[in-house]
Amino acid sequence: MKNAEIASMFERIADVLELKGENNFRINSYRKVARVIGDLTHDIKEIAEAGKLEDIPGIGKSHAEKIEEFLQTGRMSKYEEVMEGVSEETVTMMHISGLGPKTVIMLNKELGIERISQLEEAIKQGRLKGLKGIAEKKIENILKGIKLFRTSQERIALGVAFPVVNRIVNQLKDVKGVSAIQPAGSLRRMKETVGDIDILCAGKQGRKIIQSFVNLPEVSEILAAGVTKGSVRMDEGLQVDLRVVEKDSFGSALQYFTGSKAHNIHLRDIARKKGLKISEYGIFREKKKLGGRLEEDIYKKLGMELVPPELREDRGEIEASQEGRLPKLIELKDIKGDLHVHSNWTDGSSTFEEIARYARKCGYEYCVISDHTKSTRIAHGLDEERLLKEIEEINKINKKLSGDGFRLIKASECDIKNDGSMDISDKVLAKLDIVLGAIHAGFKQSKEQITERILASIHNPYVNIIVHPTGRLMSQREGYEVDMDKVMEAAAKTGTALEINSFWDRLDLNDVNARKAKEMGVKVAISTDAHHLDQMWMMQLGVGVARRAWLVKQDIINTWPIKKLLEFCKRKTKHKT
Ligand SMILES: [Zn+2]
Ligand SMILES: [Zn+2]
Repeated sequence: MKNAEIASMFERIADVLELKGENNFRINSYRKVARVIGDLTHDIKEIAEAGKLEDIPGIGKSHAEKIEEFLQTGRMSKYEEVMEGVSEETVTMMHISGLGPKTVIMLNKELGIERISQLEEAIKQGRLKGLKGIAEKKIENILKGIKLFRTSQERIALGVAFPVVNRIVNQLKDVKGVSAIQPAGSLRRMKETVGDIDILCAGKQGRKIIQSFVNLPEVSEILAAGVTKGSVRMDEGLQVDLRVVEKDSFGSALQYFTGSKAHNIHLRDIARKKGLKISEYGIFREKKKLGGRLEEDIYKKLGMELVPPELREDRGEIEASQEGRLPKLIELKDIKGDLHVHSNWTDGSSTFEEIARYARKCGYEYCVISDHTKSTRIAHGLDEERLLKEIEEINKINKKLSGDGFRLIKASECDIKNDGSMDISDKVLAKLDIVLGAIHAGFKQSKEQITERILASIHNPYVNIIVHPTGRLMSQREGYEVDMDKVMEAAAKTGTALEINSFWDRLDLNDVNARKAKEMGVKVAISTDAHHLDQMWMMQLGVGVARRAWLVKQDIINTWPIKKLLEFCKRKTKHKT
């Protein structure tokens, strides 16, 4: 898909126009186009081919022409014209806090600075001193900004940060003087990667609270410790800031620091039109404070429902909230069982009984045992014979468990082979309750081949869920190329679900694809792919992705009663596809 590339070109055009001091209206229209394209759930090429570019809100005739030109020729003359004589890094520099377009232009003119490293060098040599508008303080701020920019480039996976932050919150919530504590920022929005972490706390005796925070055992370095704010680096390298605010402003501060930027800008706009002002301290009319203790206060005074944090990306949630049609998002407590867990029969570490006991402790009614099949050799995948034995063994355990309402579900994470056939014969697949189809090899096949492979497995009457549908590993590789539209179309038609794999490094489907799945009528499974019991908590991450995708309980097959789930799986065999 060219969506991201085209979005960043429009973003760049807006940046350069801003550098050149063009009028705000034009700049903003390009920024809006960038954001709208970045959020699209469909391939922009297909929209263009259907002649529907201008149906996208925010995209006018001239934007559409530029997009068409790029799709047809691989070039966009407007972009080339604007970028003429401007270096990429100069454009990046204007986003560094303490700089801004005017300073960047001045530094370029006076000192020929085009790069961040040149700027640092110039500061070191004292060459900025005496330039117009550059006081000592300003130089300090620029240096701070550069440092901040560098760390912001290093984002951390949500699943790495999440448990660390939970531990901090759990340790601080009982500290004397703390009346409320809550993480904010992209972590609260469950974005798949997070930058620095902001935790907000309402309470008195700020200094004492901050001291408890900076002295937590996992802190590796104290960066700052004041009365209302402390800042530390944790063992994982994560920077965490704790702010102590007045009880009276806790809600507004939480709203403010949760973001996203786009969401908050849109809210401020609505406030302005109503003659109101919102800030981290509250919502105001003139000097009069109308609210701020609760997050709801802000939204209510703006005539809106409280928007769940995961939706706050300005992707239509504000309008939905104004019109009272926010979805009732899926919650962790709706999940009735994990649909993808490995046991010690292959590369997992736990026995069936251990898994059953643990799943019950998670409040589940069932848990799916889905071990690998023979093609995945490193995992000692099962062949037909061993899989049949596994089925027998699970039957025995279930007999033992019967009476307390919990059961293990017999499944297999069956490899989709290079030619699209399944790794286990249909005869044996037929004996399972659920079959997961997975690609673990042949990633370098062409988009067409991979797509055909997945389509073939979707058309196998025994395959119920395609797991980790794009194969990405966030820390290591992008996924294989696959035509998601075709996959989703077939999945919807055949009653095959797609997985949100909750494993921290996968989160696959991601939020954009999961939202698209819903739009295309595909049912979604949320599962952990746990190989150890202490990985089953990651269900929360998958639920976060689903919430970001606007999914509700009915969209997710493992929120259904077990009977309905198994019927959904069996239905496919009845109506052979
Ligand atoms: Zn797998
Ligand atoms: Zn797996």
